Amino acid sequence: MAYVEIYPNRVYQNAVFLNKLCAEAKIEVIGVTKVTCGDPNIAEKMLKAGIKIIGESRLENIKRLKKEGIGAKFMLLRPPEQARIREALELAHYFLISDLKVLENFIDIDNTTEKGYIYMVDTGDLREGVWYAEALPELLKAYEIAGRKLLGIGTNLGCYGGVKATPEKFALLEELSEKFRKSTGFELQILSAGNTASLPLVERGIVPPGINQFRLGESIICGTDVTNNRNVPGTRQDNFILYGQIIELKRKPSIPEGEIGLDAFGRKPRFEDRGTRLRAILDLGEQDILPSGLIPMVDGAEVLHASSDHLIVDLTEVPKAFKVGEYMPFRMSYGALLRAMTSTYIRKEYVYAL
Ligand SMILES: *Cc1c(COP(=O)(O)O)cnc(C)c1O
Repeated sequence: MAYVEIYPNRVYQNAVFLNKLCAEAKIEVIGVTKVTCGDPNIAEKMLKAGIKIIGESRLENIKRLKKEGIGAKFMLLRPPEQARIREALELAHYFLISDLKVLENFIDIDNTTEKGYIYMVDTGDLREGVWYAEALPELLKAYEIAGRKLLGIGTNLGCYGGVKATPEKFALLEELSEKFRKSTGFELQILSAGNTASLPLVERGIVPPGINQFRLGESIICGTDVTNNRNVPGTRQDNFILYGQIIELKRKPSIPEGEIGLDAFGRKPRFEDRGTRLRAILDLGEQDILPSGLIPMVDGAEVLHASSDHLIVDLTEVPKAFKVGEYMPFRMSYGALLRAMTSTYIRKEYVYAL
């Protein structure tokens, strides 16, 4: 059975490094565990590294973390369906909100004094948040609804539009916060600007001074920054290793024979004639991984394609003679890891070596 080796102590090293980097810039880190579906062994390492708040997007993940004894405060990064707002209030402390109606729904049943809301502002990436140019009136309404529970404002870049963070984008948050203070006399405590895609600004020391919170997932967990197409300096990338088992090994032509339609996912497959190739089929598929996000750790191996549950790997250029029943290791992109952690068909194995 295919499995993922998880190295929590390596994630710990990344968390220590990034938490320190941000602390030096007076930025608090929220540790985001959603790519691991709320893995308590990962959250535990984040807390041990000095991170105080865990960010999650799904209530099931927070439930899992709490059940396994993770005693942190939680930030819910995305509101749940309306019928589950009460449950959300029971599970989390901080909420990223981007809609006045949703904020009202929360406030209507939030009879505590300790919950906090961060209103999201879209600074150009076109995912969640009120468009920055129209944000002030909406923030004033949010303050009417939430009062002092409106702790701050936030933005998210790099996730939908792939828009990169710049000091100018973050300055929009500062300016808004200043205008808000002038109108209301109330000071917003939190400017929650970044995710992993914003780390280059911290590294270069050019985050505007008012920004005081980053929400980091990918960089801590994978050591990568997909938006900027790089490994994050000072982190490691071997925290999760996927192993698929070879279930067929054969030499076959590189071009299919017959009239070509679409593949199992409605895609038009493309082929190049490279003669006869040695191909392995592994016990993995689109249901478990993102084939384009697999990086073989075997020199010369090349991922060709996957259907729901067959992953085809070209081994022609591999010096080692693999046999059926052997496992092949892969590193994974954020997207591939997300699927692997979500797949119930992939066993999870914890390795505490460094
Ligand atoms: C997932 C998520 C993050 C974490 O982003 P990374 O790129 O993994 O660091 C931060 N903020 C929000 C709102 C998110 O949904």
